[in-house]
Amino acid sequence: MAAITSLECSRCHHAVAPDTAQMRCPLCSGRLFVRYDLDPLQRTTQHDDIAASPRIPDQSAVGVWRYASLLPTSIHGTAITPVSLGEGNTPMRRSRRYPGLHLKQEDTNPAGTVHARGLSVAVSLAKHNGTQHLAHAAAEDIAVALAAYAAAAGLAAHLVLPQNVPFAHYLEANVYSADITLVDGSAVDCTRILSQRLQSQQQANAPSDQLWIDLAADDNPFYLEGLKTLGYELVEQLGWTYPAAILYPSSNDPETMLLALAKSFDELEALGWVSGTRPQLYAVATAEEPVSAATTSPLHAHNQSASQTMAVTAAEALASTLDWGRNEGIVLSPMAAAAAAAYATLLANGQLLPADTVVLVNPAAALKYTDITAEAMHLHRPGRPAVKLPTSLPVGGIITPV
Ligand SMILES: [Zn+2]
Repeated sequence: MAAITSLECSRCHHAVAPDTAQMRCPLCSGRLFVRYDLDPLQRTTQHDDIAASPRIPDQSAVGVWRYASLLPTSIHGTAITPVSLGEGNTPMRRSRRYPGLHLKQEDTNPAGTVHARGLSVAVSLAKHNGTQHLAHAAAEDIAVALAAYAAAAGLAAHLVLPQNVPFAHYLEANVYSADITLVDGSAVDCTRILSQRLQSQQQANAPSDQLWIDLAADDNPFYLEGLKTLGYELVEQLGWTYPAAILYPSSNDPETMLLALAKSFDELEALGWVSGTRPQLYAVATAEEPVSAATTSPLHAHNQSASQTMAVTAAEALASTLDWGRNEGIVLSPMAAAAAAAYATLLANGQLLPADTVVLVNPAAALKYTDITAEAMHLHRPGRPAVKLPTSLPVGGIITPV
């Protein structure tokens, strides 16, 4: 079992006590990493043992928590009870057309999202620390998964979402009994409204068990701990070797997945559990404005992980969606379709070869984004039969927005 030694600043290496509610370094606002004493693990445990045995005596906890010896499972000698819905342990399926391409199917996670990995760990720690009310703004996949894990933990979830949130997310969050505030505005507006709410709670000296805790995934060191298991798992599924490249959708937060993967690689290398050279990382986003799919720019270099951001257009992503549906029998989420378009570009310009081992991360369930895919088909296939668009959210009388 992994006892946390400290939270360490990723920039200035300042150490913070692990049982504070601190989300950023108090000295430089850098992101915090959970640090463990890996030496005992190095001496006594082989990675095959990790892979073979669930470490938590609960049948549902066999995914992310298989790596419990590399996750926070105790603080100051007190065991942390995992809040698990069976996240992780997702399939990795080979492409029918490209011999080296593997699709990591994170859409099979609880709540249909890769964020389930991070939230299982983050919500476990929040519950352990006595938090009763969890909150999140803007990002729909994280928000819905937060609602699922809050429900599993017996905690309240408060979500502030833009009014144009995909309908499936809105419906699912309601089913989890989340308290939802819909905002006629942007993601930035949602984040601002949530911060104002948190500030007013502080100013009113609300009792600590009534305070909402913003489980902002891009600040939360424990969220990063759960997310990093994606790195362990894809290396494990490739026989404890690195792929040549990983393409992952970045949307509005390209840094978090980069840090999570880099941390998993740091730890696997420290333990001597992985061979090969570190993969090239590509963070792929869909741009609103037309850009060339070949456009790349360097992301923060982190240790030996080379990484680049790539942008593809919505039309290019839609072409990939239709291509994968027709030729692979797989519906990709819009984000994974963007990554698939980037893969095609990297093949075309020779940066990748079809035989190179490449992992393409599908982060989310495609069927939760049907309204977005339908809209893209309406916009980008002029002259083709229109796909019927939802004209309103049929929620009146059934579900009342708060
Ligand atoms: Zn710092």
